[in-house]
Amino acid sequence: MTASADIIVIGGGIAGVSAAYELAAEPPSVLLLEAEDQLAYHSTGRSAAMFILNYGPPSVRALTAAGRAFFETPPEGFCEHPLVGPRGILAVARTGQEAGMEAFVSEGQGVEAMSPEAALAKVPLLRQEYLAAAAYEADAREIDVHALHSGYVKGLKARGGRIVTRARVQGLERRAAGWVAETTAGSFTAPVVVDAAGAWADEVAALAGLDPLGLVPKRRTAIIVDGSGEACDSSAWPVVADVGHSWYFKPEAGGKLLVSPGDETPMPPCDIRPDELDIAMTVERFEQAMDLPVRRVEHSWAGLRTFAPDGTLIIGWDPRAEGFFWLAGQGGYGIQTAPAAAKLAAALVARRPVPGSIAETGLDVAVLAPDRLIGSVS
Ligand SMILES: Cc1cc2nc3c(=O)[nH]c(=O)nc-3n(C[C@H](O)[C@H](O)[C@H](O)COP(=O)(O)OP(=O)(O)OC[C@H]3O[C@@H](n4cnc5c(N)ncnc54)[C@H](O)[C@@H]3O)c2cc1C
Repeated sequence: MTASADIIVIGGGIAGVSAAYELAAEPPSVLLLEAEDQLAYHSTGRSAAMFILNYGPPSVRALTAAGRAFFETPPEGFCEHPLVGPRGILAVARTGQEAGMEAFVSEGQGVEAMSPEAALAKVPLLRQEYLAAAAYEADAREIDVHALHSGYVKGLKARGGRIVTRARVQGLERRAAGWVAETTAGSFTAPVVVDAAGAWADEVAALAGLDPLGLVPKRRTAIIVDGSGEACDSSAWPVVADVGHSWYFKPEAGGKLLVSPGDETPMPPCDIRPDELDIAMTVERFEQAMDLPVRRVEHSWAGLRTFAPDGTLIIGWDPRAEGFFWLAGQGGYGIQTAPAAAKLAAALVARRPVPGSIAETGLDVAVLAPDRLIGSVS
């Protein structure tokens, strides 16, 4: 197959589909290329699906806040069900972590310190002796990631965008007419390429002859255990998270709990699998905090959270190569930042002003530009 477009987006995770959708709102024709035979197979399909305002560096918090209106009031016809539902977060500290809790409460917005007794009333199976301090963030939400991703895909197609799966980009060459992407599904041309390839974004840039920006994919493990029983109904529990990020759990449908040890093991980009030791560590940390023995790990998986060296997203033109645009380094926040990051990417590609919802947060988008990282990797 050969085809041309005004813009090629590489990657069919949440970053790629959201950006392609926003780019296609303008007259340009948009073509999205995905290596796998299904979209959202990698990180996007493996997340914990949370929207948390008080999470990550300031630029991430700003993008998250700027995207909130999209989650709460999506465009007409975008989805059939709400994109977010209520799911507060209970942060807990054990003895020795009180200073971390104080910092979390004082730096956070809408975070209220809570007595251990009040925390126990919310989640009665927390071990009393574990709880030295607690705080509650009522404004957190759980995201229907499938609805969000499908809304973008459906909207992209309605705007005339095309999606080609099983199209792994294997070569990127800049010619007079623009970029030529050689893929496993044929060759495609466009004057503009958006690199939204997640853990592979540096590899895609290398195909274009660009030195890496130092992205590091980090493995994060998740398991599903039974959280139901005579003693509890976990469905109304908040997410419970160690203030030091060493574990969290989240109620899921059917009385299940998603538990993660908050691991961050650097890995090469790949179809990542969980490590048995990490699964065992997850169970151990959960049982230390909860009076709820894990009888069986019902399911486990791992996904890659890919970070730039400074932990901030990379959104902007690469000054080293005409028409090459980065949308990468989403780390552990790629779902919750997607609506705002996509709008910003579309505005920068079209050389329009920064959208009002983002400007209002006071975010200086220069902190996201790839320029800051060029030449930093030896
Ligand atoms: C366990 C876990 C929990 C998480 N929890 C949350 C959370 O609660 N909230 C939140 O906001 N975020 C969370 N995240 C992070 C979030 O999942 C990621 O930030 C986000 O999914 C990244 O999206 P992406 O589109 O950049 O990457 P991906 O979804 O990985 O998409 C990249 C795509 O590019 C494709 N690709 C790569 N190379 C090529 C190529 N050469 N040619 C064509 N296509 C290519 C890949 O096949 C892939 O489909 C979590 C992540 C994990 C692992």
